[in-house]
Amino acid sequence: MYYYGFDIGGTKIEFGAFDAQHQRLIQKRFPTPRDDYSALLDILTQLTLDADAELGTQGKVGIGIPGMPDSETGALFTANVPAAMGKPLAADLAARIKRPVLIDNDANCFALSEAWDGEFRQYAGVLGIILGTGLGGGIIINGKSFTGKNYNAGEIGHLRLPVDALDVLGRDIPRVHCGCGHDGCIENYISGRGFEWLYQHFFTEKLSAIQIIERYRAGDANAVAHVMRFIDLFAVCLANIFTILDPHLVVFGGGLSNFDEMYPLLPERIKPHLLGMAQVPRIEKARWGDSGGVRGAAFLNL
Ligand SMILES: [Zn+2]
Repeated sequence: MYYYGFDIGGTKIEFGAFDAQHQRLIQKRFPTPRDDYSALLDILTQLTLDADAELGTQGKVGIGIPGMPDSETGALFTANVPAAMGKPLAADLAARIKRPVLIDNDANCFALSEAWDGEFRQYAGVLGIILGTGLGGGIIINGKSFTGKNYNAGEIGHLRLPVDALDVLGRDIPRVHCGCGHDGCIENYISGRGFEWLYQHFFTEKLSAIQIIERYRAGDANAVAHVMRFIDLFAVCLANIFTILDPHLVVFGGGLSNFDEMYPLLPERIKPHLLGMAQVPRIEKARWGDSGGVRGAAFLNL
């Protein structure tokens, strides 16, 4: 059996074909059509049929996309891929290639790819967290993406700041307006963008995350205080999530996941906020990097 994955982003479509041992056999990239839905379907159809011809069989197909399908109609909400906005992409592709097509959110695909890593596969509950411009997440239970009713499961970035955060940030911390329409969502504080916003808020100096981390590594007092506050904030938010989900493994991806000093600091700061007997789960950096999206899309059919 072969598994095909499409990772559809705002600028490019990545295609991968994987065998039963999860080894990648085919890798292709195309620019994402901006507004032309039939051109998008044409590309996905052609890549599928080309792979079928090359492998001599019909592969199973999965799609990862930055957005989510309506749980009843399958119509996509995907602001970054205008060509597919409002379209039932999975059903339309399925009709063209004459086989079922699964579709999921790209953060879920990221988490699914990590959950199927050779070593991580032993863990029943995996929480994938993307520390990028925003804060994304996906929940994998026994090797399957848990989407919830509305594909909102794992959207941890839009949890609001917990009460413990007020101890860390002060009671007068502004509730930053979020792109989702609410105020005080944690992705405005815990993300690459949030990391920079917090530094500017407390030290009235606008620096990039990379600059802040360089200063931290040089022992700069403000940067050290900032990182400790950020870790404390991240810890109280993670502790709440862990109390609901109790994952066996947590994997960080996205640009800020490369801040390696976080990993030893987090567990000791999370522990006091968990229920008394709970142990902090294993927390690791993602292993599959940029190929996570296409792997996860393909592994929707595992
Ligand atoms: Zn939000």
